[in-house]
Amino acid sequence: MYYTDETVIFLDGKFIKAKDAKADLFSQTLHYGFGAFEGIRAYQTVNGTKVFKAHEHYERLQRSCALVHIPFQYGVEELTQITYQVLEKNNLSNAYIRPLVFCSPNMSLTAPKEISVMIAAWDWGKYFSNQSLRLCVSSYQRPNPKSVKVEAKVCGHYVNSIMATMEAKERGFDEALMLDMNGLVAEGPGANFFFEKEGVLYTPPLGNILPGITRSTVMDICKELDMPLEEKYFRPEELFEADSAFFCGTAAEVIAIESIEGQPFAKPWKNSMGLIIQEAYKCIVLDKSYSYVIV
Ligand code: PMP
Repeated sequence: MYYTDETVIFLDGKFIKAKDAKADLFSQTLHYGFGAFEGIRAYQTVNGTKVFKAHEHYERLQRSCALVHIPFQYGVEELTQITYQVLEKNNLSNAYIRPLVFCSPNMSLTAPKEISVMIAAWDWGKYFSNQSLRLCVSSYQRPNPKSVKVEAKVCGHYVNSIMATMEAKERGFDEALMLDMNGLVAEGPGANFFFEKEGVLYTPPLGNILPGITRSTVMDICKELDMPLEEKYFRPEELFEADSAFFCGTAAEVIAIESIEGQPFAKPWKNSMGLIIQEAYKCIVLDKSYSYVIV
């Protein structure tokens, strides 16, 4: 599903067939989750294939590695160029791109000496098959920033996300809404959260969440369109009074939330602020003007 016999990936300075690529079974990343990655999308735009916010993603990858002391020497521009080459070699334009920094064999709990970098891409349509999501409030909290570097996109952190999504599905929901260590709303297992109340959008501040690149794009859209937005901490109970809500992330894009713990939002999505953001986001990634969405 992610590759065929013909797929080419970038691995440590070379473009090779995915089926011929090798990773060491003694890698510290495989045993302890000590590695970092990104999730990026490319779109077929009116101006050709564009990797959306490539620089921001690679800067975050550098920051993730720096925060956990993974020695990662690649430059942002170099990584961006490699990404375009991966897309070209695989004839992809609408694609999901997965850069992964993984560590050399090391069974002790010490800093890795050497790292490997792989960049793969594949055709990935919508992350969620539904138009809107039914969420539950997860029993799993997001990791405490005093336990891990929550701002880093580190492989091992995703055990927490997988547990939350599995639990949500077992309970018959589409996805989980996760709280932070104080019981305040944080984010989804792989997306940031916004809600609307009386003409204002609210989202949790940075600190206990991943600083999403889509989250900051949404904030830019709000500025551009003069839509009031506030960052604040809030309890899940506050959402039962909210008008609408959405998740946003590179894979998920902007997706409506229909209900939380079975309780639907007051406003239909078609009248929500989220719909305007969703339309604007689609335009931005496709390099189209979005001024029309305000009229
Ligand atoms: N939170 C978490 C936990 C995530 O894994 C992601 C996906 N990277 C996001 C938020 C959204 O981040 P972005 O918009 O940069 O994809």
